[in-house]
Amino acid sequence: MFSAFDNAIKQLSEVVPLLEKEYADKKKLQKAIDLLKRPQNFYRKALKIKLDGGKNASFPAFRCQYNNARGPFKGGIRFHPNVCEDEMKALAFWMAVKCAVVDIPYGGSKGGIVVDPSVLSEKELRRLSVKYAEFITPFVGPWVDVPAPDVNTNGQIMAWMLESYEKKTGRQAPATFTGKPIELGGSQGRIEATGQGGVYVLEQYLRTKGQKNQRTSVAVQGFGNVGYWFAYFAQKEGFKVVAVSNSKGGIYNPKGLDVNKLADSFKPNITNEELLTLDVDVLVPAALENAITGANAKKINAKCVLEMANGPTTPEADVILAKRKIDVIPDVLANTGGVTVSYFEWVQNLGGYYWTKEEVNRKLKPIMVSAFDDIQKTVDEKKITYRQAAYFLAIKRIIDAMMLRGRV
Ligand code: NAD
Repeated sequence: MFSAFDNAIKQLSEVVPLLEKEYADKKKLQKAIDLLKRPQNFYRKALKIKLDGGKNASFPAFRCQYNNARGPFKGGIRFHPNVCEDEMKALAFWMAVKCAVVDIPYGGSKGGIVVDPSVLSEKELRRLSVKYAEFITPFVGPWVDVPAPDVNTNGQIMAWMLESYEKKTGRQAPATFTGKPIELGGSQGRIEATGQGGVYVLEQYLRTKGQKNQRTSVAVQGFGNVGYWFAYFAQKEGFKVVAVSNSKGGIYNPKGLDVNKLADSFKPNITNEELLTLDVDVLVPAALENAITGANAKKINAKCVLEMANGPTTPEADVILAKRKIDVIPDVLANTGGVTVSYFEWVQNLGGYYWTKEEVNRKLKPIMVSAFDDIQKTVDEKKITYRQAAYFLAIKRIIDAMMLRGRV
């Protein structure tokens, strides 16, 4: 069976030969790699709540704290029937990688509950969220581990969890959770941050290729939070957005679409599979994982794939795209605008001083641009893919921090 964590460890192992050239003490390096093959802490508990009808129900819950060499653990909380220990470990590892790629001072973590929240009433959802907050209260906090929303969780759930945490600890600590509603210390610009960050990365990539936004056509798979805001900012910056899709199908117009007019609904004229194979400059998977596989990678006609979703390209497809000289800008770089503005939210909470949306964007851009430039430099120097360069740089930053702390 496909294991997300096996895939994560494979990505780690792939950059070991490159890392061996960087460290004189091979034993120390090996020790660091061994430590990075497992999380520092893994907590589990069955959460029991009373359902509205009076019956009791129990839901397995997890918090995985992968590595905190570079700063407090940081990672979302997912409510989904498929949540499992393997997935938690992989996602927590990838959070550590992402934070290191954009060089923000965090480690990586992830949490979740095995539950289909759509079958719960709002009261049940709140009781379950509070139970989860009680479970993690002893091992989260602004300088320990900072959770955030993920699949099927949102600002309201963070607000319930914050209230529970603060009641238990007896003090205000908004920096314990990010992705909060603005009224409770959330940051301006968080909702659109992932899409906006992706556009900054794409613009920087094109700059290195000497290509102008105006001549660049883009197809976006997925029109949710990430896909919509990506398409919105891409159009604003002059890109020609020729296709977008949701789970029902896609809409394509080679002359360009008006993203603002599509916001509510659109009538599909192509399938999602057709969208992936369009003859465009940039293909942007922004829906689910495993969209580009060994089966369809040969049919991709784009010159570049910008991974806005998490894990949209399978390892098999990655090899095929590399052979075909199609650049893949990896998720661990392209979609880090969200975690970067979460970091801004934490900074604002700690300082008790709040920024405007313009200030948030002014600070987001240089972080995304500089992360891209670091990776481009590594791609050019080592003649490796963007994904390999991102993992190499991130793992090196984490290992350097582990060595400085004397953990190895
Ligand atoms: P979302 O639920 O808001 O949107 C998902 C979109 O994908 C919807 O438009 C849905 O209709 C569409 N979709 C579902 N199945 C599809 C299919 N088979 N083909 C085409 N479209 C399909 O989710 P989101 O927050 O936009 O997240 C999208 C991806 O980005 C996920 O992989 C998520 O993990 C990743 N991500 C999100 C953020 C964030 O800040 N929201 C940050 C980093 C990464």
